[in-house]
Amino acid sequence: MLYQLSYGTLHFRFASAKVETLFEYTKRLPKNFRSIRKIPFFAMLEVGRNKRFAIFAYQAIIREINHIPMNIVDRFLAYTQFDTQSAEDAGKTPSTDKQMTFARYLRDELVQIGLKDVELDDEGYLYATLPSNTKKKAPTIGFIAHMDTSPDASGANIKPRIVKAYDGTDIVLDAAAGIVTSVEKFPELKRHIGEDIIVTDGHTLLGADDKAGIAEIVQAMVYLMEHPEIEHGKIRVGFNPDEEIGLGAHKFDVEKFGCEWAYTMDGSELGELEFENFNAAVAKIDITGVSVHPGYAKDKMINACRVATDFINLLPANEVPEKTDGYQGFFHLIGMEGGVEKASLTYIIRDHDRQKFEDRKKLIIEAGEKINAQYGEGTINLVVKDQYYNMREKIDPVMHVTDLAIKAMEEAGVSPRVKAIRGGTDGAQLSFKGLPCPNIFAGGLNFHGPHEFLPIPNMEKAMEVVVNICRLTADFNE
Ligand SMILES: [Zn+2]
Repeated sequence: MLYQLSYGTLHFRFASAKVETLFEYTKRLPKNFRSIRKIPFFAMLEVGRNKRFAIFAYQAIIREINHIPMNIVDRFLAYTQFDTQSAEDAGKTPSTDKQMTFARYLRDELVQIGLKDVELDDEGYLYATLPSNTKKKAPTIGFIAHMDTSPDASGANIKPRIVKAYDGTDIVLDAAAGIVTSVEKFPELKRHIGEDIIVTDGHTLLGADDKAGIAEIVQAMVYLMEHPEIEHGKIRVGFNPDEEIGLGAHKFDVEKFGCEWAYTMDGSELGELEFENFNAAVAKIDITGVSVHPGYAKDKMINACRVATDFINLLPANEVPEKTDGYQGFFHLIGMEGGVEKASLTYIIRDHDRQKFEDRKKLIIEAGEKINAQYGEGTINLVVKDQYYNMREKIDPVMHVTDLAIKAMEEAGVSPRVKAIRGGTDGAQLSFKGLPCPNIFAGGLNFHGPHEFLPIPNMEKAMEVVVNICRLTADFNE
């Protein structure tokens, strides 16, 4: 019997007695791709409006039916077909329902590849286990990646394309629209000459942040199951929503995850290993002035906007994001508004060093006190709130966690690049919740925009690093 898979004018015909397998497989696809019509001598799969998804789904089905294992690139490309953009201020978890659609797909994939304890909660947190295959007393460790993509750029209808054996010239993403990833603007391209690189069509992000991380973890689990000679302890995997809006870790169930330590696969270039991030606080400053008719204002008016300027001038002018890098902290004025009667300022305060961070908060409070001494008590009302802390504090006592990652990279032929994050990371929150969690490269570059690209060898090396960490951890207690 002949079967047909159709989307619009695209028809895939294939002969197979395993139509039941096909039907089973299609059940794992998102709802709008799921409807199946049985036509005499044909099995028809309606795949919604997304042609590319149809192709990926078709390829996946054919692989499944012919028992050809999915490779890491197939997996990643299939993931990119899910729009998983998160949204600020949605007031729910996950912030967007479409993340849940992907979470369900991923859950079914984890079951299908043979992981155990696969569990998706109502808020889109997905956990699973690769059971230990050794008698060694290995600690349980975990790997974490996030399902959402940044609200900064569209994640809908992503059209990934593979540039084969990249030749070192500018990559034209959309010739008609003149969208080009130029070597001049993105010199990091030069490190990837000769490699196959996945790029976008110039109109969306790629979503390698962090679907590359997911593909690497899933593929590493498949690899370990296919290679039982590699001994490993119990491995947990965790995929969470809403990392890009800073809410990925706060509902992550560290207790249920049950790991001694874990790694987020969410860094960028090959070799990156991060276990230091900023200490972070936000300061909200409300200024109350006194409004008087300007013609009669002498010695009476207090102009809130001018008070705001005075306040700004009390903070060091050179300690701002645009004048700092490396381990230098800053005060960053992220918002100001106001009139004569009222004004408000919002600052974020960042520093890797905890003492310097505390000093910065003190400085901003003292600036408020100076203003109040000058203009009268209550002119400035200032609230400073801590946001997150440098995970280094939590990693320092367990440096074997990063040592293992470094060794795993070296054994994969990857030179580790340890660097301090000038920002926050899910791993920091997790580390303070009791799960030490450094961040390892996922391989993509230029995150959060249409110039995002993913060299395939980066992704393959990241997978190898995951496998090596699992293997090395088995001997940790021996
Ligand atoms: Zn990310």
